[in-house]
Amino acid sequence: MRLNDLLKLGTQELKNNSIENSSLDAELILSNTLKYKREKLLCNLNWKANKLQIRKFITDIKKRKNKIPVAYILGKKNFWKTSFLVNRNVLIPRPETELIVEYLLKISKFNSKNNILDIGTGSGCILISLLLERKNWRGTALDISKDAINVAKSNAKMQHVLNRITFVNSDIDNFSGYKYDLIVSNPPYINSSSIKNLSEDIKFNEPILALDGGYNGYSEIEKVIKKSAKLLKLKGKLILEIDHNQVLMTRKFLKKDNFYINSVLKDLRGLNRCIISTKF
Ligand code: GLN
Repeated sequence: MRLNDLLKLGTQELKNNSIENSSLDAELILSNTLKYKREKLLCNLNWKANKLQIRKFITDIKKRKNKIPVAYILGKKNFWKTSFLVNRNVLIPRPETELIVEYLLKISKFNSKNNILDIGTGSGCILISLLLERKNWRGTALDISKDAINVAKSNAKMQHVLNRITFVNSDIDNFSGYKYDLIVSNPPYINSSSIKNLSEDIKFNEPILALDGGYNGYSEIEKVIKKSAKLLKLKGKLILEIDHNQVLMTRKFLKKDNFYINSVLKDLRGLNRCIISTKF
């Protein structure tokens, strides 16, 4: 069967099942089946797939029809400049989270030295991306989920930064570390009652532990701020991802713990997404 016909078939299947980006998803799934880059697939649509490849493609299209996110089907997701391994134990890296990486690279010199803590590291995408760009930085990757720590470790190994990261499988409350220059975190910040409003892709597949921020959405944000106040060096920075409607309350929490608010960064949709503060 020609790749072009396979793509058409897959796209139609997804469209019939109300999958939004049906043709892009079919292309990504077929590229993955053939182990081609997407560009190579699109340039060779007259080539033929063998039986095994067709079978694998159909199986993966079925998964997507059942709302499994493409990143979990492929087992990987691009973030910043790298492809990260992902599975259902970790949140899929989001483009808005790249704001944290972009900001820290902008304010730090290439040969600077920093010790950084990533609270709720998940796949490790934030910390690993930073360490790849700053050879003298070291970090601690903290996560309550043992399975997430294992994914982060695999990613660190693949990116050759394993020896610069300390992995800690712990709850934030029970963690006590050294003093850090920087703390980053993309904590769960969606309020429990809103989880049901998320898309099926997210709510039935991604780890609820990484999304659910308690009854008002602030339970983990508050913990991260309180703990960071203790763990940061004087003038150390906390870079926190939040939801766009959480700026006001988060500012209050930060001020209560003696943080000065430097700025709030907007994501690609123009929504407030990231709050930068300094410990005094
Ligand atoms: N940005 C994610 C979403 O919209 C939520 C991430 C989080 O809770 N930390 O699904």
